[in-house]
Amino acid sequence: MYDYLIVGSGLFGCVFAHEMAERGKTCLVLERRAQVGGNVACEERDGIYLHTYGAHIFHTSYEDVWQYVNKFVRFNGYVNSPVANYMGHLYNLPFNMNTFRELWDIVTPSEARAIIAEQRQAIKGEPQNLEEQAISLVGTDIYTKLIKGYTEKQWGRSCTELPAFIIKRLPVRYTFDNNYFNDRYQGIPEDGYNSLIKALLDMPGIEVRTGVDYNKERAAFADVAQTVVYTGPIDEYFGYKLGQLEYRGLRFETQRFTEANHQGVAVMNYTAREVPFTRTIEHKHFMRGREDIAAQPVTYVTREYPHDWQPGEEAYYPVNNERNQKLYAQYKDLATQEQNVIFGGRLAEYKYYDMDDVIKSALDCVQATVTQGE
Ligand code: UDP
Repeated sequence: MYDYLIVGSGLFGCVFAHEMAERGKTCLVLERRAQVGGNVACEERDGIYLHTYGAHIFHTSYEDVWQYVNKFVRFNGYVNSPVANYMGHLYNLPFNMNTFRELWDIVTPSEARAIIAEQRQAIKGEPQNLEEQAISLVGTDIYTKLIKGYTEKQWGRSCTELPAFIIKRLPVRYTFDNNYFNDRYQGIPEDGYNSLIKALLDMPGIEVRTGVDYNKERAAFADVAQTVVYTGPIDEYFGYKLGQLEYRGLRFETQRFTEANHQGVAVMNYTAREVPFTRTIEHKHFMRGREDIAAQPVTYVTREYPHDWQPGEEAYYPVNNERNQKLYAQYKDLATQEQNVIFGGRLAEYKYYDMDDVIKSALDCVQATVTQGE
């Protein structure tokens, strides 16, 4: 008998397991894939860490979370500065003075503000959806060239049907600063994300089994632990009995090139609707400080194609529109009635969590669980 049966070995499951093992508890971690780590798992080819399940750039302003992850791995100081490619024209991201200069050939922040102020007059009152929110933040030019096509590909829906909060993730600033994030800390583990997962899981008290699909084999694990920590899709846990939540799926196409540097940047966003993929990732550029990797005449570039998710596929993004939020609330009610089951992480909470948020919520969950047990 274990204290905890942890379903899923993404960041939530791994942090929970680690913290409980630190407190002398025993944990069995089940993972349905062949390898641990959830969507932060990487694979190594020619010495390059490929972000197999999409680009993961760690960024946070939580002091405690930053200190926490630095206990396990060293971060390389990578700063994300993606470039948008719209019909062959390049623009810096996030939306900043470099972007405004490239678009309008202006020089000062006040010139940029004046153009945006004029364009945002198209929106009256409080923005009701992503389109209105985007136009009221950055005006119609940026919305048309850099947001609309990308967002509609990413989410498979019109910008008028999407919640405003998604676009608020992106900074808008009137300085010449191409850092995609406003957070105080940022970077990528020097030895890849697998090293973080390994450091979290490799300790007495934690046993890991891969290739086990808990939802299919639930009966076999009915009595192995006092408490279950479930981090998979919440609707799948309940056999989709209230209906299916929608997710956005991703398909990746990776190419190996025998050249040192293919696109000159880690992330290039293709913002035109006509291009079927949303972005291309050149993984080696994430490995800041690795001059040996930069110099070698081999590189990998991955194209990312979003698509409508079907049950059985990997679920990447929850689609937090009204319909799904309502359905999730019903599943959440069911979840609170489950005895001795904790639901946590992006899929079980149906929430567009970043990595730092997931770690924070796992740490909070451990704290709450420990306090409850006292
Ligand atoms: N977005 C956009 N154009 C871009 C990049 C992002 O319109 O070039 C919008 C899009 O709606 C996307 C959202 O901003 O879903 C959040 O982007 P982020 O890069 O945070 O998404 P993630 O990296 O989590 O996929």
